[in-house]
Amino acid sequence: MSEGKSTVLTVAVVAEQNSASAGLLGTGQRLANEVGGQHVVLVAGATDSEFANYVSQFAGRVVTNDSADLGSSPSEGWLNFVAATSKAEDPAAILLANDTLSQEITPRLAHRLDGSSIGDAHAIKPSEGHLVVTRSVYGGKAVAEIELTSNPAVVWVRAQSMDPASVQEPSGSIEAISNGESSEIRTQLKDTHAEESEGEKLEDAQIIISGGRGLGGPEPFEDLAALAKVIKAQNGASRAACDLGWVPHSWQVGQTGKKVAPQLYLAVAISGASQHIMGMADSKNVAAINTDPDAPIFKHCQFGLVEDYKNVIRPLKDKLTEIL
Ligand SMILES: Cc1cc2nc3c(=O)[nH]c(=O)nc-3n(C[C@H](O)[C@H](O)[C@H](O)COP(=O)(O)OP(=O)(O)OC[C@H]3O[C@@H](n4cnc5c(N)ncnc54)[C@H](O)[C@@H]3O)c2cc1C
Repeated sequence: MSEGKSTVLTVAVVAEQNSASAGLLGTGQRLANEVGGQHVVLVAGATDSEFANYVSQFAGRVVTNDSADLGSSPSEGWLNFVAATSKAEDPAAILLANDTLSQEITPRLAHRLDGSSIGDAHAIKPSEGHLVVTRSVYGGKAVAEIELTSNPAVVWVRAQSMDPASVQEPSGSIEAISNGESSEIRTQLKDTHAEESEGEKLEDAQIIISGGRGLGGPEPFEDLAALAKVIKAQNGASRAACDLGWVPHSWQVGQTGKKVAPQLYLAVAISGASQHIMGMADSKNVAAINTDPDAPIFKHCQFGLVEDYKNVIRPLKDKLTEIL
């Protein structure tokens, strides 16, 4: 890459070891190798934190910051952290994951650093000094390749569907950076509310069983939950089912919900609107149960069953309980 050094900054705003962090680090590592540059990963906290040590296995260097702003004003805290590091590193590309905070700060970072930005990258490759990003357009009906012509290219990626990083020997160094002259903090995080949930996060699940408006009410979601328990799956939902208050909004899959990429996605009584498809199109296998043979979901699945869910879910759960 010509503009800036060939450094790739990977910004790990969520300090967790999961499939998203593995995919994000893998993308940064691969890109840095392809451009012959250095892979520098930004992590919140102290230099001796467990997460910084974990990340150092996959990075040329890890840069940490323990400013209180990262917790109390996450957007501005992270903007200041990345801006301070960018001043020192002059990166050609900055990569973030597909969590809410990363999505929020991606365009703001590009504006502040006079670069370019895009989100929802399925694939990234370098080309003649710039990044070329592949992403879905028109509600998932087409795929576009977009060149980001001014560096740094700030991109959030569909991290869960990216190949994980491989361990490097020796591990990267870990050093701290201060935010220097930070810009004004204008927002304060007042409160957080954690939804009660069992098992792994929806974004990390290998099997997801989602229900839609066609279930007719909240009760059938109990059957989906019982089936999920038998096959160690997580439950998701369409926006219609969440908006009706049948299940929490944290279950929503789609354009304005979670982006998931499990091995198996089972859509029960979900029509398959493009906004829903955008959240689960990266699933390895998709199965659908719907009474309408013309439901759009059947165009997006490998296994389709035209049937009333009532005739399938409970018998399937009973049979699987017997077998497993
Ligand atoms: C800006 C914007 C963002 C959006 N973001 C999202 C998003 O993130 N996620 C999302 O999901 N939606 C999103 N939507 C809404 C989306 O357009 C659809 O309205 C929504 O996905 C429909 O949900 P559904 O498939 O559950 O309901 P419906 O479209 O009502 O489909 C219900 C399906 O159930 C089937 N059915 C009925 N009875 C049975 C039965 N007994 N057995 C089996 N099948 C049955 C029907 O044939 C039908 O296909 C968004 C919309 C907009 C405008």
